[in-house]
Amino acid sequence: MSAQTVQTILVTGAAGFLGSHLCDHLLADGHSIVGVDNLSTGSHANLAHLAGNPRFRFVEADICQPFDVGPVDYIFNFASPASPVDYTRLGIETLLVGSAGTINTLELAKKYGAGYLHASTSECYGDPEVHPQVETYWGNVNPIGPRSVYDEAKRFSEAAVVAYHRYHGVNTHLVRIFNTYGPRLQANDGRVISNLMIQALKGEPLTIYGDGSQTRSFCFASDLISGIVLLSRSEEHMPVNIGNPVEWTILECAKEILDLTGSTSKIIFKPLPQDDPTRRRPDITRARTLLGWEPKVKLREGLERSLSYFQACVNTPQAV
Ligand code: NAD
Ligand code: UDP
Repeated sequence: MSAQTVQTILVTGAAGFLGSHLCDHLLADGHSIVGVDNLSTGSHANLAHLAGNPRFRFVEADICQPFDVGPVDYIFNFASPASPVDYTRLGIETLLVGSAGTINTLELAKKYGAGYLHASTSECYGDPEVHPQVETYWGNVNPIGPRSVYDEAKRFSEAAVVAYHRYHGVNTHLVRIFNTYGPRLQANDGRVISNLMIQALKGEPLTIYGDGSQTRSFCFASDLISGIVLLSRSEEHMPVNIGNPVEWTILECAKEILDLTGSTSKIIFKPLPQDDPTRRRPDITRARTLLGWEPKVKLREGLERSLSYFQACVNTPQAV
């Protein structure tokens, strides 16, 4: 994507958590956006503030079916169920959006000579045997486990993106996103930050799966989006990890949320889902070196900046 010229940009998954933040960022940079979404896990509420913006157009469509929104300069492909609860509920849809949906959007990029960035995931590393995870690690994924509908779809989509670059010369970029949170994280999609924040604010027990010793590294949405935009302007075609390298056990994260909210909720332990990755932390040397990118927002600050959003979700019963 060009940093200098104003462009027409297609964002798939625009009504989702990250897609809507990306639209905001690109609109603020002066670009025109076509947002496509089938609203399977996203919602109009995430885009309500863009109503009437002449540089934003929303198209309700399923990207698994061939579609065309007219000439575009750049495509950000963010459409896919993303939380373990959503992608196991929508297993076949997840396989299709990662395969047919990715090919359909790559075909559009080829047709219009557009640049292309695909939202891949740390989940490509599966339950990693290499720690922290570097982009050169091929991963440890169970191809037939409950998470495989997501992991293998994303691994296929990476292969497709690299192939369109290799065979058709499309200017592609691949970001491997590590756990990201912030306002607009769907309140009911089961991800750990939304679950624990909402439980704490409602005074309900905080649910920890397993003993809480598994780790994740949490990136605030604005940090992630700035890294992704830098990547889209780069010459790098191979995957780049974007995430916050500070690693937390889930138990530590729950205690941080109790402390921040002042909640007196108890912590309760539930069974660990099958194939739940034990450890996850990005090695961000590539992003630092190639993009000069570094996350700025610590978990405590990011949770504080998300508090009013989660409070509003608690006050809107249909959201939780
Ligand atoms: P989200 O569920 O909030 O957003 C995904 C959006 O895609 C939703 O609006 C949904 O309606 C839309 N969508 C799904 N299938 C579609 C289809 N067939 N056609 C059109 N639209 C469709 O999730 P998110 O957290 O914003 O994730 C966005 C992208 O980033 C996903 O591709 C996800 O895999 C990736 N990602 C996110 C994280 C994270 O921590 N948030 C981590 C790794 C990767
Ligand atoms: N988790 C948890 N309690 C919850 C939701 C999730 O302990 O209410 C755990 C989950 O088992 C995993 C981690 O938190 O180990 C992150 O889960 P999430 O669904 O947010 O994303 P993942 O990284 O697994 O895709």
